[in-house]
Order: sequence, then C-alpha cells, then structure tokens
Amino acid sequence: MSDAEAYATFKAVRFADNGGEAFCPHCECDAVYEYESRRIFKCKQCERQFSLTSGTIFSGRKLVLRDILVAIALFVNGANGHSALRLGRDLNVSYKTAFVMLHKLRAIMGALRAPRKLKGIVEIDGVWVGGHVQKANLKENRKDRRGTHPKRLAIVTLRERREGGRSLTFALKHEAEAVTTILAHVDRSATIVADEAAHWGILRAYFEVQQINHQKAYSLKGIHTNNVESFNSRVRRAERGVYHHIAGRHVQAYANEISWREDHRRHANGTQFATILGAAARLPSSDEWRGYWQRHLPKPPTPRAKLRLV
Ligand SMILES: [Zn+2]
Repeated sequence: MSDAEAYATFKAVRFADNGGEAFCPHCECDAVYEYESRRIFKCKQCERQFSLTSGTIFSGRKLVLRDILVAIALFVNGANGHSALRLGRDLNVSYKTAFVMLHKLRAIMGALRAPRKLKGIVEIDGVWVGGHVQKANLKENRKDRRGTHPKRLAIVTLRERREGGRSLTFALKHEAEAVTTILAHVDRSATIVADEAAHWGILRAYFEVQQINHQKAYSLKGIHTNNVESFNSRVRRAERGVYHHIAGRHVQAYANEISWREDHRRHANGTQFATILGAAARLPSSDEWRGYWQRHLPKPPTPRAKLRLV
C-alpha cells in the first residue's frame, strides 16, 4: 500500500460521519481548506489547523499512516497477541513507539467492550497474572501469596455461554471483589456458573447459581465452566507465550485485548481490521497514551546506587 492509498483509506474512515469529507474536529464546521502538500487542513470558521488524526486516539502519533494500518492488521491477526518488540521489528520503529501504538489499540478494544448486561448462562472464573512470584525451593517454605503481591492481579472473566456470546473482564486485587462487579454487569435473569470458591455463594441471593467442585470433577450433569476456562488458557498463552511479562497497572488493558480477540475470533480478518480502524476514528485522544514517554522521567537512582556514588 502506498502512502497516498493509506491516506485515502484513513480519510474515508476518519470522516465517515461526513461522507468522507473533512470536517473540523474543534468546531465540527465542514468548510475547510486542504493543504495538499502538507496533508493538513484549516478550518474556515475557527481558523485552526488539523490533520487526519487530530482529535482521535492517534493524535500525537509517531508512525506514518501506512504503518498504523499495518500495525492494526498485524495486531488483529495475532491470535494470542502481538508484542511491542515484534511490532517494532516489523515496522522498523523503536520499542517505545510500538509499545504506545499497541496500547492505543488495546484502548480501542476496551472501548468496544459489550455495552450491555450479560444474559443467559454466564460462566465466571478468575486467573492470576502479572507480578512474578518466585516460588521457594522447598515445598514447606512456599506460601499462598494470592491477593498479597502488589502487582499480581486476578483477571475475573464473565462469559456468556452461547454462540456469539460476549465476555467481560475485570482486573481485581482478589477474585472475591468481583461480586459487586458481577451485580453491575450481569442481568438478574441470568444463570451463573462458577467453581466451588466460597465467595461465589454470595451470588445465590441475586441469581440462579450453579457451582462445580473442581476437586471432584470438571463437568457434572451439564454443570461446567469450560468456556471461561478456555478463556483463561488464552490469557495464559498471551502472558507466557507472547508478552512474557504483564505489568500490574496494564493488566486491565491486556484483559480487554484478550476479551476482544475471544469475542471476535470467528470474524474474518478484514472485518476485525475495519472494526478497529472505524472505532479508532471515533475514539478521542487518550490522555494516558498521548505523549506517554515524554511524561515519564527516568527512575531516581536506587539507594544502593547512591551509596556507591558516595
Ligand atoms: Zn473549526
């Protein structure tokens, strides 16, 4: 794809609400000048200049438009994810540029989460990710650190068991915290299926709840959480196989990505690409990711390094 083709594609999607014709992102006036040579626009009403990506999540971008399109295509094609190191090599850009680009795409996927309450049979389970825990060598020295590691979080997933069902994920300090979240995001008519953990018992006051004791069996009389377990193994494959490390504060972003991949796995690549690009044009600039590396100062020296200097 040439730069001109990428520009035309982007323009058609960005200004789709106005039949592909440019309009001002500041005042929405559609009387604009176009500077062909520099590929920027100027509003005739408020006289401010803007580019194709102004006011969208890609504003302040480091990548050329063609590379953004390639990045979206590569990212949606990676079944288990696509790491920033790899994207950096694919596009011949720095790790930092690729890292921010991928997080912008995750933000888009997060914005596309199911905007409704889940219904029907909803399977629920949690999986622990982030913050590496080194296990003690001897078994008697090992402790259950779930819920105590500051960077280790539970991704609790709510998943509809039906064709075309949606999933919702929440990064929490502990699985038990999910109860209030479930009340907010699951329709009261739903049937909840979960494992034997005691905190799911609380849900019986609000929903019909089925629990399967995994110490005894994974499936009994049609009661199982196999769909959400398969989601959890997707989380594991992404963490171990692709990303290798997921920082605590980004766990929700990765969870949103994995949820999007799961919900859209039966869609053709072209459809997935169009969904992400279309949403990108409508999603406003991200305070979190715009200028991300410019705001992050180098870490202060550790006390030990200071001592050595003395
Ligand atoms: Zn304007």
